[in-house]
Amino acid sequence: MDKIVAMRSSEKSDDFLTYAKINVVSEKCAYDPGHFALEKWQRPLKVIGSVRPFTDFEWTVYGDLIVTNEVQKKLAKTHFTGFRFQPVDFFSTTKTPFGRDSVELEIIGWGGRARKESGVEIIEECPACKRRVFSAYDDPGKIFNADEWDGSDLFTIWPMPRTYFVSKDVRNWIADNEFTGVRFIEISKLPPTAGHTLTPRSLESLFDAEIAKRIKERDPDWWYGNNQKR
Ligand SMILES: [Zn+2]
Repeated sequence: MDKIVAMRSSEKSDDFLTYAKINVVSEKCAYDPGHFALEKWQRPLKVIGSVRPFTDFEWTVYGDLIVTNEVQKKLAKTHFTGFRFQPVDFFSTTKTPFGRDSVELEIIGWGGRARKESGVEIIEECPACKRRVFSAYDDPGKIFNADEWDGSDLFTIWPMPRTYFVSKDVRNWIADNEFTGVRFIEISKLPPTAGHTLTPRSLESLFDAEIAKRIKERDPDWWYGNNQKR
């Protein structure tokens, strides 16, 4: 049995939260204007939601995770690592702001890079901005490389930053608390990705600068290429 599981929404995609507005700080690649060297969504996220949450875990159409104040309070009391909370601004469907206690559950734990044996490999790399296109996995059971994992209970595995993985302890904690809106998939049973390739945004786009730096320092050769190191 797998030690870790992926978290997904238990709700229909029709029920995913949409965004009232997405504020992006972006920087084009000097080499290919079709690339973004940086494409960072600013916090707080601005989402369109109901006045009261229908489930304890809510998901946006782009995979951001929002939890109730109750989940926040209980999660903060656990020993679990790999996450932090961010405020969220809520809007009605007519874009009127309203207050709600829910917060974003940002997953910042690092689960390392997918192992090659899973089928994930770099197939294209921009020499300037290091944008990389990866082949999608064909054997999800071989994705996880425990040697590269930082040990966090909530984490992502590169290059799938929008898939959140959790330890079985977290899964059990969520089940014991009977929180709704989330289901779990054994990593080996992850369904194929929508396309044949994976093209994540840059680490700096997805994480705060100091987190991105910490991740890159784990293997500078891989992130920057050998030339940068010399
Ligand atoms: Zn580029």
